[in-house]
Amino acid sequence: MLVNMREILEDAEKNHYAIGCINSPNEETIRGLIKAAEEMNTPLIIDHAQVHDQLIPIERIGPLMIKYAEKAKVPICVHLDHGSDFTFVMRAIRCGFPSIMYDCSAMSFEKNVEELAAFTKIAHKLNITVEAELGVMSSTEEDSHGGKPLTREDIKKSFTDPAQAAEFAERTGIDALAVCFGTMHGIYAEEPLLDIERVKEIRKQVNDKCRIVMHGGSGVDADQVQQAITAGCSKINYYSYMAKATSKHVWEKLNAAKGSMFYHEVQEDAYHFIKDYAQDIIKMFRNNK
Ligand SMILES: [Zn+2]
Repeated sequence: MLVNMREILEDAEKNHYAIGCINSPNEETIRGLIKAAEEMNTPLIIDHAQVHDQLIPIERIGPLMIKYAEKAKVPICVHLDHGSDFTFVMRAIRCGFPSIMYDCSAMSFEKNVEELAAFTKIAHKLNITVEAELGVMSSTEEDSHGGKPLTREDIKKSFTDPAQAAEFAERTGIDALAVCFGTMHGIYAEEPLLDIERVKEIRKQVNDKCRIVMHGGSGVDADQVQQAITAGCSKINYYSYMAKATSKHVWEKLNAAKGSMFYHEVQEDAYHFIKDYAQDIIKMFRNNK
């Protein structure tokens, strides 16, 4: 069943668990993620990142994601991840995406407010939910989002300010806000250290129609992830570590078989691995519930 974010995130926050939001740039990943969610009877968000559009354009992968979501036995939200230009966001809407992240975090605060307020007004008329970002979500060197390497001290400078987050949510009417408190995109160079108190303060100050989102969830230890959920994060973006683990698994399989596998067997094996991996993520995000 295809849903938007609002239909699933409110319950998550109320019951102190988080819903995974995982990139799905090919059919094996889409199948693996949805099957994992179905077997565990839990909602899930699958997303297409604008940076993956060079890999496969949204007009090809988008309709496939939506078709799988519609047929799923559990609520599946199909979401645009880091749509950073208006034309691209419009392409996602044309493909039928019920949920959009319009990321104007590189702009000034006022410009970010202006863009998101105007966009959210239109999106809500179409029953499309909107996620924005405040602060600058840092990226590690090894990152499919194409970022620059940063140290822990560097990323502290771009942490989200709770009062500004509250003002932003109020003035834009957005459904979800990605905040920065120590996570990064990609593979971590050093153990991430999350500012959990900041998440609590953001949750306290931001209006209750807006959910709090953590990006860069993969590579963070389960204890910190669960503290972030308890502090108020109800949507967690997760991808890099799963994608790397899948490649490693395929590499081991191919090594063991001395390269003698049919390509369709490799794909099918990756599908099963992704399904199992996604179930572990879902368990972690359940926060012992
Ligand atoms: Zn992100």
